[in-house]
Amino acid sequence: MQLRYAARGTVWLIVYLVFVLAPMFALLAGSLPPERDFWTEFSVAIGYAGLAMMGLQFGLTARFRQVTEPWGEDVIYHFHRQVSLIAVALVLAHPIILFVVRPELLALLNFVEAPWRARFAALSTYSLIALVVMALWRAKWNIRYETWHFWHIALALVAVAAGLSHMVGWSFYLADPWKRALWIALTIFWIGLLLHVRIVKPLFMLRRPYRVAEVRRERGDSWTLAMQPAGHAGFRFSPGQFAWLTVWGSPFKITGHPFSFSSSAAVTDGRVEMTIRNLGDFTSAIGNVPVGKRVYLDGPYGAFTIDRNPADMHVLIAGGVGITPMMSMIRTLADRGDKRPIVLLYGSRDVESITFREELEALKERLDLTIVHVLKDPPAGWTGEKGFITAEVLERHLPEPYADHEYFICGPDVMMDAIEKALGKLKVPLSKYHSERYSFV
Ligand SMILES: Cc1cc2nc3c(=O)[nH]c(=O)nc-3n(C[C@H](O)[C@H](O)[C@H](O)COP(=O)(O)OP(=O)(O)OC[C@H]3O[C@@H](n4cnc5c(N)ncnc54)[C@H](O)[C@@H]3O)c2cc1C
Repeated sequence: MQLRYAARGTVWLIVYLVFVLAPMFALLAGSLPPERDFWTEFSVAIGYAGLAMMGLQFGLTARFRQVTEPWGEDVIYHFHRQVSLIAVALVLAHPIILFVVRPELLALLNFVEAPWRARFAALSTYSLIALVVMALWRAKWNIRYETWHFWHIALALVAVAAGLSHMVGWSFYLADPWKRALWIALTIFWIGLLLHVRIVKPLFMLRRPYRVAEVRRERGDSWTLAMQPAGHAGFRFSPGQFAWLTVWGSPFKITGHPFSFSSSAAVTDGRVEMTIRNLGDFTSAIGNVPVGKRVYLDGPYGAFTIDRNPADMHVLIAGGVGITPMMSMIRTLADRGDKRPIVLLYGSRDVESITFREELEALKERLDLTIVHVLKDPPAGWTGEKGFITAEVLERHLPEPYADHEYFICGPDVMMDAIEKALGKLKVPLSKYHSERYSFV
């Protein structure tokens, strides 16, 4: 199975490179403009490549399951972020090189007097800079996620459309009508990818709504939302996967929030549950969602699942609300009658905030399940693990050889960084541990 995903991943990588490089090399076919010095040609080439990479960014976040499946959404979003930095560097290097080799072009920076093709270049570059700065400092500047998201899309559209207008306006390599048509078609394709996620997908979701069947309070300032498909069969998911949930308003609003499924994937009537911790404006209102409310789900997504990584023994390491995908895995294994050993290392603040505490105890009856609670603020007389999950805690509770088990980690970033380091210390190869970071978006 892993080999199949690796093969598909390689194919998508090749498709990505073709989409970045082929439109640029196509410019070298047909009639060519008079030759110029190396640095001018080089700066033009990286400008084209930068624009193609920017355009493809719409594809990376278009949530095509076929594309994201081999890696998982978090890896795709990480790639999206890193590629945006490379694309911006290329787009910025394009005018900088030109200004160095041909200083007379600096006059084009005068926005009032410059021709439109240069104004479009400036508009594209400034939008890109604003986009990247906002993305890098969103959390630090306390920009509301929804506000940032709206501006992220708007600035990306302006950057790509103005970049193309600059190219077509300059027309140096685009004298042949077919070359112009190729780049315009590419831009329509990129923007079509955005329309896919913002219009086509929501239309699909509108036709497949869910009804809230139950709202259940859980330990640890959390609520479980149980949802039943309304008028359709729903979808099947793998334990550990997640979906984007829209509660208030239509799926066309950019307000979907990602949540892992916490229920068993073995359920066949389409019912799904998500367990949501109060962490902000959306999550704090979950307890007030009325039963019967129409909601929308876009999913399932994610590669964080035991189904893709069969093992003789599963080690699940959760911190706080990171228990939700683990709960789905444990409930599913119980429903499947799976008798392979599972060790759950579960970090919580105190005994009272251990979400699913009683149910986990009960599940031990149906599974070969060992639970190790690690408490930050343990009560007097607590004889279990205290503090945080460390390499020493892992060594105390896991049988050797450590590299033989499959590890699943979900929790706050600091905890995940520490565990990944600890697993490295225990010589567990990277391919054996799987992480779901709730901060990836
Ligand atoms: C794959 C995945 C699975 C998750 N599973 C769970 C889960 O099972 N249970 C749970 O309680 N939490 C889960 N989360 C976290 C959850 O999505 C955020 O806590 C929630 O969206 C915060 O929304 P808010 O408006 O209440 O908080 P805010 O205070 O507005 O936001 C806090 C942070 O959450 C992120 N966020 C906010 N809105 C969105 C959005 N629309 N889309 C994406 N990110 C957003 C941003 O990084 C933001 O800075 C998951 C996150 C991811 C990425």
